[in-house]
Amino acid sequence: MIAPLPVGATIGILGNGQLGRMLAEAAARLGFDVSVYGPEPDSPASRVVALEVRADYTDLDAVIAWGKACDVVTYEFENVPVATAQALIDAGVLVRPGAKPLEMAQDRVIEKTFLKQCGIPTADFAGIGAASEIETPLNQFGGKGILKTRRDGYDGKGQVRLVAGDDFEEAHHALAYAPAILEAFIPFEKEVSVLIARGADGETRVWDIPENGHVNGILRTSTVPAEVTESTSQETKRAAKALAEALDYIGVLALEFFVLENGDVVANEFAPRVHNSGHWTPEACATGQFEQHIRAVAGWPLGLVTRYHDVVMENLLGDEILSTDQRLAAGEIVTLYGKREAKPGRKMGHSVRRLT
Ligand code: AMP
Repeated sequence: MIAPLPVGATIGILGNGQLGRMLAEAAARLGFDVSVYGPEPDSPASRVVALEVRADYTDLDAVIAWGKACDVVTYEFENVPVATAQALIDAGVLVRPGAKPLEMAQDRVIEKTFLKQCGIPTADFAGIGAASEIETPLNQFGGKGILKTRRDGYDGKGQVRLVAGDDFEEAHHALAYAPAILEAFIPFEKEVSVLIARGADGETRVWDIPENGHVNGILRTSTVPAEVTESTSQETKRAAKALAEALDYIGVLALEFFVLENGDVVANEFAPRVHNSGHWTPEACATGQFEQHIRAVAGWPLGLVTRYHDVVMENLLGDEILSTDQRLAAGEIVTLYGKREAKPGRKMGHSVRRLT
């Protein structure tokens, strides 16, 4: 067991978007120095930390030199190359939660195979290398499916809905002929996620589960508590625990589910990092996801996740941040990410409304 980091140690974060920014703020509150690493100039995280290295994830010399100056390295971005995390580990840098969660989360076929191995139900799926491989599994799945790129898909990008008889060549063309996965279409009633923290000592804490509303594949709202039965909620928590344990995970992870009409759950994907559907936790709970992740990777005791409020978290996309004044006046708690340009659909901030 590695000793807890001393007060004032340096936490390195791979990735410098809004999640890195909110992790850095939480770390600063606990007295840590934070250093971020990522390729983007003028990033949300770089503007709240004193230390930054701006270089590509594939620049191993740069990343190792940076990592050696940190007491622990974590990540806010699940597409950090596995080779980068492994190179840091091989160079003696403490990386939490390690390279395996990245490896398991980056490729949808590997991810779903791993979830099943953990005893977590997923949609039926098949790896697709060419359009000619779609028809047979699609028929097995009842003629309805979703074709997704195996890698690099996010916010619903890189996916096409299919029904039997569609032009499969055109569908695969729409994904630029990338290696793909065909998933059975799940006729879900709602979507929920579960956020779990696992400490360096293996202790776990699970927040109450949010119900997530997506529009065009992008998360719009998380409402807590989700309207699900106790057994559905328990099942998501059991699954999250099994996953965190199988990964020997240290930190916060999110596991997303479809909930069927009968209350059964089917896992969609997991994110080995703090997650958008947990952005309400700092405003509603004894400990928020960002502080909890920092405590975990520092080897510090986890905080309680007792929830004090029912809440709705809403993402502010593009020029929706122009409504900030009215939201603040109405008593909402707004967090803005400091992004310079409000492109349509871009996550610019979020707002939390306490209902109780
Ligand atoms: P993903 O990129 O996998 O997070 O998918 C984005 C959204 O597409 C999900 O939040 C669902 O609303 C929908 N979706 C993804 N996979 C499936 C599926 N197998 N069946 C039905 N809907 C899906």
